[in-house]
Amino acid sequence: MRLLRFGGISLGIALASALASLSCSSSSDGSSGSSGTRAAKVDAQTLFGPNVTNVDIEVDYAAGAAPYVGTGGQYKDVWNLFRTNTNALFDGKKDISFPNTLEGMEKLDDVTAGEFTKSDVLAIAKTHRQGASTAATASFYVVFLDGKFKDDAGTVLPDVTSTAIADKGVIAIFKPAITANPNSAIAPLVEQSALLHQIGHVVGFVNNGVPLNSEHHDAANGAHCTNKACIMNVAFEGAEATVNFVAKSFTAPDPVIFGQECLSDARILENKLLPE
Ligand SMILES: [Zn+2]
Ligand SMILES: [Zn+2]
Repeated sequence: MRLLRFGGISLGIALASALASLSCSSSSDGSSGSSGTRAAKVDAQTLFGPNVTNVDIEVDYAAGAAPYVGTGGQYKDVWNLFRTNTNALFDGKKDISFPNTLEGMEKLDDVTAGEFTKSDVLAIAKTHRQGASTAATASFYVVFLDGKFKDDAGTVLPDVTSTAIADKGVIAIFKPAITANPNSAIAPLVEQSALLHQIGHVVGFVNNGVPLNSEHHDAANGAHCTNKACIMNVAFEGAEATVNFVAKSFTAPDPVIFGQECLSDARILENKLLPE
């Protein structure tokens, strides 16, 4: 929209350069350019192994899409739900760092409202991602967007809360799908649940890096779990199902929302990776 200010000729140039940068980012997708290497995701065999001792979550947000912080549901700090569940995911074996205040997150003033494909999300990550994985640290990137998800066929899916590009360690949260829930008291829990679903994807659930040890892979729906009470169920990419899940599952003060089957896969992988 801002482009319109520049008038006809400049608009043409701006569009051309926008298209050039789009094609640039898609051609680097999957290639081994230097920034691709820097942002490369740690694979599950490394992530769950003993050499990775730290997991860093970088969080950016667009204007109008700030993550919930502070009180939410039964929590004084809703990010404690994230801490409990990521500690469960790694069995307390990794030092997990993430921001729980807006000051610790970066606001992206150049990312405007709109619809976002996975390629759009990767282009944002390419520009704004600062964290990098090292031998001891696995870094993941999360961006909260003021817009809806558009799939690769160009269909806008307004109920989809979030997506992950698992092989890049990149997650996007689509804030309007979360704020559309009329029960705003539980919206922070819905948002955290969506984030944890996508964290599950980037660490290699289900059967997407973390090997399967029981029959709980919903292969027809990608890397999802057949357990309807596990946050890795395919239904929990959608706001409506996640709202219902939160209403039902958040009776405990601080619930672990990954199912036992998914957590067992992580534990078994971890044990296999221990030195003899
Ligand atoms: Zn999913
Ligand atoms: Zn599961």
